[in-house]
Amino acid sequence: MQDLFYESNHPNHPLMNHACPNLPINILISKGSSYFGPDTGWVLEIFREATEDDLEENEYLDDVGDLIWTTVAEISHCPYCGEHLQPLSRNPADGSVQVACYDYSGWTTRKL
Ligand SMILES: [Zn+2]
Repeated sequence: MQDLFYESNHPNHPLMNHACPNLPINILISKGSSYFGPDTGWVLEIFREATEDDLEENEYLDDVGDLIWTTVAEISHCPYCGEHLQPLSRNPADGSVQVACYDYSGWTTRKL
């Protein structure tokens, strides 16, 4: 069986990413981020990176590939291959998961 996990060298995801063969290019599934505190479990992250056109329209973006925004949600399974990643680090009584949106397009990062 293919090893679905690998160590990442992405600066915002220093621990582990789910190496899914079906994962779209603008989505990451990772564990070890700090979006929801130090005990953040597996999260699905949808993100948008800057293009040349974005650089011309926004003076706060420096390079193609800079993050413009990301939306993050806790998950327990990969929605693209069904792999059970592992239980969430927390076990909310109401069954809810944490979700957040971050906007990097301005001078400072805004949590929406
Ligand atoms: Zn997967």
